[in-house]
Formats: sequence, structure tokens, C-alpha cells
Amino acid sequence: MDNRSIIKQLKLQAALMELHDENSFKIRGFNNAVFNLDKVEVELATLSQQELEGLEGVGKSIAATIYEIVQKGASQALEDYFESTPQGIIELLDMKGIGPKKIKVLWKELGIESGHELKEAANSGLVANLKGFGEKTQQKIIEALEFKEANANKLHYAEAELLAEVLMEELSGLKNIGDVAPTGALRRKMEVIEVVELLVAADDFDKAEEEINALEGFEQDVKASGPIKWVGLLAEHATPICLIFSTPEKFVQNQLLYSGSVAHLATKVAEKQTIRELVQTKEFDTEEGFYKAIGLAYIAPELREGFFEIEAAKNQKLPKLVEMEDLKGILHNHSTYSDGKHSLEQMATYCKELGYEYLGMCDHSKSAFYANGLDEDRIIKQHKEIDELNEKLAPFKIFKGIESDILYDGQLDYADDVLESFDFIVASVHSQLNMNEKKATERLLAAIENPYTTILGHPTGRLLLRREGYPIDHKAVIDHCAKHNVVIEINANPWRLDLDWRWVHYAIEQGVQLSINPDAHEMDGYHHMKFGLLAGRKGGLTAEMTFNALPLAEIEKHFERKKSQVKANA
Ligand SMILES: [Zn+2]
Ligand SMILES: [Zn+2]
Repeated sequence: MDNRSIIKQLKLQAALMELHDENSFKIRGFNNAVFNLDKVEVELATLSQQELEGLEGVGKSIAATIYEIVQKGASQALEDYFESTPQGIIELLDMKGIGPKKIKVLWKELGIESGHELKEAANSGLVANLKGFGEKTQQKIIEALEFKEANANKLHYAEAELLAEVLMEELSGLKNIGDVAPTGALRRKMEVIEVVELLVAADDFDKAEEEINALEGFEQDVKASGPIKWVGLLAEHATPICLIFSTPEKFVQNQLLYSGSVAHLATKVAEKQTIRELVQTKEFDTEEGFYKAIGLAYIAPELREGFFEIEAAKNQKLPKLVEMEDLKGILHNHSTYSDGKHSLEQMATYCKELGYEYLGMCDHSKSAFYANGLDEDRIIKQHKEIDELNEKLAPFKIFKGIESDILYDGQLDYADDVLESFDFIVASVHSQLNMNEKKATERLLAAIENPYTTILGHPTGRLLLRREGYPIDHKAVIDHCAKHNVVIEINANPWRLDLDWRWVHYAIEQGVQLSINPDAHEMDGYHHMKFGLLAGRKGGLTAEMTFNALPLAEIEKHFERKKSQVKANA
């Protein structure tokens, strides 16, 4: 069992303890252990009970619980809680913004045992009348439930890609199946996937279907399936799968028809015919050949949204999309100085090993106390360590950055003389996320105006499928970044992908550069760069407009120029 699954169980147990009014001291112990275990590098499953007790924040009873989870798959205490708690209540525990204490009141006082019942109670106004709830909380509950419903069974892109790989591996060995390739939203690299769609080549669809149904874990939804598609689920995955059959001869044509969005396919090109009509009437062997045959430059699958790509392709203005090899450094990362899992040296060494020229270290700032944000003394200490490492690792360079919280009023998190000591600053919102659009936008505009702000971090704070971002006026924010020479981050964490790709094209048009930042909290976090890259490409991002495609000497110059502007304006 991996650490993540163990920690997940501990978290759930802590929530259930709270729900069942256990001793608060004990609950704190659990939460504290979870906080510390998140950073542990060794595999917990390989440790003895005694070794577990030696870990920071883990006492005798929690060590015993972990050991039990590893040995039996779940602790007895958790199993007991499952017995005495309705399934619907357990599901409600992971609802954002409402804790176990409130859920208990809903359960005990209103007899609510499921999300469905809770929604009914909230809609009828019963929840607002409960002590400690009120209209606002009731509204929040309704919104959280609706968000949860709308996102049930969906995956973010990185997870969908993994599932697709498993499927392709399974299908590729079958006798009656030829080529298998991602199609639909998956092939267009959409940030959220509702159905994992694959195009499957076969001469005899019935035989192919029979073979698929014989595979272990493949459960067909017969009603939803049809003569040319197999719809169903794979084992424990809740996300629907759609396998679309195609003869090998029509594979390219079908790939164009299934991977283009409705808007792309409905767009009229020359001869007043739509892309869809042209796919069905023209002769071609490859996708490149198709676009050539209709007089357009080749449109990469991720751009086929009916957004700006067809006009651009007509006018020979399609962007040359940024590639992984274009990226020269990794900005915005965390170390053990704040809430990261690996040390500054480990993060730097690994970044260098991956072939990058520079690293931007951006631990949390002091207001982010929950993330162990850096006070002024620890900043001095970190800068000293960076200087030493830079001597050792040259010509590789670590830049002294910080992820400064944007405070309630848009101020950054330190006095000017401290801000001055950094090479660059990523400014991000982490607290008080419940602002309306006007307030949230003004807060960002103020931070963008701050002459020390180099990059605007994850602009909306969204967590895909988990939490909507705060509403902002994207145009106003982008325009302000253009005016004040501030770069905007595409946070590459697959849960964020924020700035949203739909705004990348507009940002580029305004001359705003984008930085693909993994926001890595551990060495492996660097590999998220790929997902930020895909999001950028989807919005039409080029190497020229990618900030961290700048080589070391150039980005150094940018940081210096930005800082000299502060002095010039002082
Ligand atoms: Zn952040
Ligand atoms: Zn961060």
C-alpha cells in the first residue's frame, strides 16, 4: 500500500472521530501526524511498528493504526466507524467548506443521511434555521453539492491520460483489433475529461466487441453501446469509457471527425463547406494531407476547438506551438523551507539533472503560516544556502524567489527592503477566497501594480473538480499585466492548469508572456511541467511567448530590468 492511501485513511479516520465526538486531543494528534507524514519519503508500508513510532508526529497509537492499515487494508477503528455511520454521511465528509461538526448536526438534528437529502433540506430552507448555520452557510452547501454532482465521475487530464494508457495496453494485444488511439476531448487535451474516448481499428466490429467483453474488468453498458461503439467501465474506475470502432481504411477520416470539437467541425472554410463536410468528401491519406487538401495549414489536435485556429490557418498565422525542449528552466517551486518534501539541494540537483539551466525557488511567504511560510530570518538563511549551492552547481543557477501571498488588500507579504532581496517574486492568493468578482479583481490589480511582482501565480485559485476559482475579470487582469510588465503563470499542477487555456491567446495578443510553472512541492513535481505545456499549447502558446523558454542569461536580464524599474520609479 502506498503512502497516499495510508494517509487518506488516516485523514478519513480523523474526520470520523470528529463526527463521533471523540477526544479532541486525540483528533489533533491524528491531524498532526497526517501533516508530518505527507512529507515522509520512506515507504510507510516497509516500516516496523517501532520504526513508525520514531517518525515525527507519530506516537504509539498512530503507529499501531498505520501498521494495522498496512497489514489488514484498514484499521479496526475505521471499520467500526463505517458500521455506525451511513455511507451518505461518509461521502459528505469530503465536501469543501463544511466540516465534520456541521455534518454531524445535519445528521443528528435533521436526520440527513445523503447528499440528495441534504440538498432537499437546504433548498427548503431547513438548514438555515439550524443553530450555527444561517442563510450563507446554506447557500454554500447548495453550491458545494451542485459542484460535486456536476463533477462526479470526471477526471482531470493527467488521470484520464493514465487510464487511457491502461486501456490501450489491454486492447493492443487483441487479435481482432488494430490501431488504438485517443480521440475526442482526450486527444484535444481538455483539462477535464467526462468520457475517455479511444478510436479502435477493426475489420469485424462484432468480433472486436466480443473480445473486449472477454477482458477482465471491462464492463459493458449494453444500453449505451451501439453498432459502432462500446460504452462501459473499467474495473474500479467510475469514468465512462467509449471505444469507437472504425475500419482501418476510415481510421484517419474518423479521427478527424471524432477528435475535432463540434465548433471546429461546424466552421465553414472556402467553398462554403464545413470542416465536417469536407472530411467526408475530400480524398486524403493523413490528417496533414486533409488540411492541405482544403488549403489550410496543419491544425494540431489540441487546437481544434473552433476558437481562433481556422482563421489563423487560413491566413498562415497559426502559432508554432511551444515544445518541451524549448523550456530552459523551472520557476515556482517549494522546498522543506516551507511545505515542500525535498530539500533545497535535492530540488536543485534534480532540476539540473533533468537538463534545465535554472531553478526558481519560491517557498511560501510569512502569512502562509499553515504552509510554514518564511519569516525574515529564514529568508536570510535560505539566501545564504542558495549562494553556496550556486557556487557548487554553476553554471546552473538557483534564483532567489518567493511565492508571496497577496494579502486581503492586494499588498505583498513583506516590507520593501525584504522584497528587494529577491531575484523575482511570484504573487499568489491563498486565503480569503470568497470574494466577489469586483473585490477579487481589484486585489489582483493591486498586486500586479506592485513593482516587485514578477509573475502572477495561479490567477483564479481553482482546483479542477474540487473547487471553483474566485471569479475575476480576466481581461482586466491580463491588460494590467501587459501594462505593468508582469508575467502570468500557467500553473502546471494538473488540478490547477490556471491561467485557463481559453485566456492564453488573449494574453499573447496583449504581449503578456506566460510562465509554465509546476509549483513542485517535491522532486517528482517537476514532471507536471508536461501538463502546463499541454494547456499552454491548447491556448496557442509559442516558445517566444513562454517566459521560462528564455535561456539563463536572458531571464537574469529580465529580473534585473524589472528590479531596476523599481529603483527608477522610487
Ligand atoms: Zn500557491
Ligand atoms: Zn506554490
